[in-house]
Amino acid sequence: MTEPTPPIELTGVTSRWTGGVEVPADVVARLAEIAPARAAGDDPRSVAEASRDWWPLALHWALAGEVPRAAGVVVRPTTVAAVAGVARQCREAGIPLTAAGGRSGVSGASVPAFGGVVVDLTGLAGVVAVDEVAGVVEVLAGTFGPDLERELQAGHGLSVGHFPQSFDLATVGGSVACRGAGQYSTRYGKIEHLVVGLEVVLADGRVVRTGGAPAAAAGPDLTQLFVGSEGTLGIITRVWLRAHPLPPAERRAAFTFATFAEGIDACRRVLQRGATPAVLRLYDEIEAARGHGGDGHRSTLFVLDEGDATMVDATMTVVAECAAGGEPAPIELVADWLEHRNDTSALQALTRKGFVVDTMEIAAGWSRLAELFDAVRAALLEVPHARVASCHLSHSYQDGACLYFTFAATPPAAEVESTYVALWDAGQRAVLAHGGNLSHHHGVGLNRGRFVAEALGPAFEVLVALKDALDPAGILNPGKLGLPSPFGPPPWPAPAEAWP
Ligand SMILES: Cc1cc2nc3c(=O)[nH]c(=O)nc-3n(C[C@H](O)[C@H](O)[C@H](O)COP(=O)(O)OP(=O)(O)OC[C@H]3O[C@@H](n4cnc5c(N)ncnc54)[C@H](O)[C@@H]3O)c2cc1C
Repeated sequence: MTEPTPPIELTGVTSRWTGGVEVPADVVARLAEIAPARAAGDDPRSVAEASRDWWPLALHWALAGEVPRAAGVVVRPTTVAAVAGVARQCREAGIPLTAAGGRSGVSGASVPAFGGVVVDLTGLAGVVAVDEVAGVVEVLAGTFGPDLERELQAGHGLSVGHFPQSFDLATVGGSVACRGAGQYSTRYGKIEHLVVGLEVVLADGRVVRTGGAPAAAAGPDLTQLFVGSEGTLGIITRVWLRAHPLPPAERRAAFTFATFAEGIDACRRVLQRGATPAVLRLYDEIEAARGHGGDGHRSTLFVLDEGDATMVDATMTVVAECAAGGEPAPIELVADWLEHRNDTSALQALTRKGFVVDTMEIAAGWSRLAELFDAVRAALLEVPHARVASCHLSHSYQDGACLYFTFAATPPAAEVESTYVALWDAGQRAVLAHGGNLSHHHGVGLNRGRFVAEALGPAFEVLVALKDALDPAGILNPGKLGLPSPFGPPPWPAPAEAWP
């Protein structure tokens, strides 16, 4: 079975943020009766490790021997009843309870911001049942992508088709909790389009099930209430996902375009003619030159479709017609991308050299994308010490697409954190000002919490009311999604004058 992958070496176990909530010894003892438990006092290294994720800023802290905030206790239940028991104990004691899956989140979402208990869901793993006729798999939330796909593909000839770059790092529950997107999402959809139903443990330990049929008209969609809730409204324990037969056919194509805007327009026409190639990735001139066959001036488009041969042929015909304004590029570039697509070793290498590096993925309507692309790259580059800002388009819809920005800066060591905050302030606000949304698939976590009220406007109050209704004591993952918390304001970002 797959295990979480540490993002970078952790050279110490100190909590960068202090305060928060200690877990009393009697609560630790009761938790240990419910599920295997590790207390920070007994096993500081393993608890510190279980208290961090892939948030790029915290990689710098890890090299300095710090995690954002270590939990008091990490519990690893293997049954739904045990998850419910842990929730009841935390609710009665008023202790923060943060769900963690693969801890591959890049926004600090599974970091226990106020200490307390981390519930490690990776012990609740495995495929429970497969309905081969309907194409629906029932899977426990802590199952990693490779374990799910191995069993589905080999045992049933099916695939969910959810292949995020973090395929080896993320669990099903974490993907659902963050509204994740796989690299083949233009055909199969994001995880929210693949979810048929959920089992969720509420803050007081009650267990509920939602959904279960292809569509419903029984009031609002309660499944989607928990999708993307990042552990703040409930703990997902079981997921029903759509799966499709393994594709019998596959075809690839590659093109270059004089500008990114021309490539965007080609993608728009593909989608609006009704074609949904599994992969439709358009790289700007910077990323195209960075290993995708570009000359530093032109953008590159990779296309891959799979499925029924007749459908694939029709899709690729539409693609070729819509891309006629570009130039054909070597098809081997797509194979090269496939081979290297999940290699993220540059992140660790650059972090060790002191670079501030991160990515920002957002979505906007086709009518806004070209202008948003220019504005966001320019805004990022205006930040002091910024070195590069680049972009690709990676998930397309009838009405718009996801743009994925990558940026890097080289500040002096004392300005790593302030530069990181300035880059996100500049980039995210430029996105919002140009009609983009807050996030397409990485979610909010801690990093984007300060933008949520602004991004949602008056509808933010609806989210706050839902939180109050489902978790009145505020114990579930406090400090995240920009929600108010009884434990105080989020510990990050600190006021500017407090930066080292
Ligand atoms: C190298 C790299 C590449 C990535 N590529 C992609 C990509 O292509 N597409 C994409 O969508 N994301 C990507 N991500 C981001 C990350 O993998 C996703 O956010 C993923 O969905 C997180 O899953 P996880 O199991 O690691 O969750 P965690 O990081 O453990 O948790 C994330 C959030 O979900 C909550 N949570 C976790 N499990 C549960 C549960 N069972 N019930 C309730 N809440 C829960 C946590 O409390 C936290 O708020 C990438 C990350 C890395 C490091």
